[in-house]
Amino acid sequence: MAEPKKRLTRTRSGNRQSHDSISASQLVTCSNCKSKILPHRICQNCGYYKGNKVIKDKEEKKEETKKKDELKDE
Ligand SMILES: [Zn+2]
Repeated sequence: MAEPKKRLTRTRSGNRQSHDSISASQLVTCSNCKSKILPHRICQNCGYYKGNKVIKDKEEKKEETKKKDELKDE
């Protein structure tokens, strides 16, 4: 394996590592349920994005499949 030619000083390593820290992610509140969510993401709690329902509930999905089944039978 390749070896470094010279040992890095503590200063040199420290200067490099001074940019390694990560900051906490910025959170915004959901306009529908007021829970903390990542910006520009669908709320995982209520399924709303920009005031519109994007993710359907289990009950809504069931109703939709029922309708589809009814259409198939005809
Ligand atoms: Zn929400």
